[in-house]
Amino acid sequence: MKRRLVLLGAPGSGKGTQAEMITRQFGIPVTSPGAILRREKDLGTPLGIETAEITQRGDLVPDKIIVELIEDWLRLHGSHGFVFDGFPRTLPQAESLLSILTRLRTALDLAIWLEVSEQTVHERIGGRLQCRSCGFTTSVTSAKFAERPICPYCDGPLVRRNDDDESVLRTRLQEFHTKTEPLAEFYGKMSILHRIDGNRDREEVFKDISRLIEAK
Ligand code: ADP
Repeated sequence: MKRRLVLLGAPGSGKGTQAEMITRQFGIPVTSPGAILRREKDLGTPLGIETAEITQRGDLVPDKIIVELIEDWLRLHGSHGFVFDGFPRTLPQAESLLSILTRLRTALDLAIWLEVSEQTVHERIGGRLQCRSCGFTTSVTSAKFAERPICPYCDGPLVRRNDDDESVLRTRLQEFHTKTEPLAEFYGKMSILHRIDGNRDREEVFKDISRLIEAK
């Protein structure tokens, strides 16, 4: 199925989880600037080194860097549709995406906003583990492992993301409120915004998203 959609929402709102479920169910390719930057950092590339300090503080990486990443990705994989997890996160990024897609004579089908309470964010981020190799995300409580939790998919180590610490999370939430929330109005005006209650369990949220994708 060929759809072009962006997933928006606070840290811990479930964007990564839902993006993965969408790919599995509908075969739409997914990309996430956050995941790309973590991989670049682990590989020790110039981009990874340049951005590590920014992501570690919980600040947003400059728009120009992120837009270039997305443009490169679109050039290589964009013909099959896409799910963007964590892009756009600022108005200039949303405007850049609009002009890139217009140049490609295409447009977004859906902007899905996963709404979660602050309590949900703190609970999820506080108990989140992520595979260092494949990015699989789970919670400390559902990962019933002893001292060294291992990824059920690739045997990689499950670790806490170093930006999941409480004080860094505060900065990420502030960035979200000031820079990302204005995108609701942007996509609302384009009549493609859909708000979904992201506080529910992943299957229930996914049912709503599936319905939107199928109806397009
Ligand atoms: P989350 O959605 O849980 O906050 P991500 O994995 O999407 O985490 O992003 C981690 C970090 O990567 C962000 O805090 C930010 O520093 C950087 N980042 C990711 N996407 C963007 C973006 N679109 N613009 C700027 N910085 C970004």
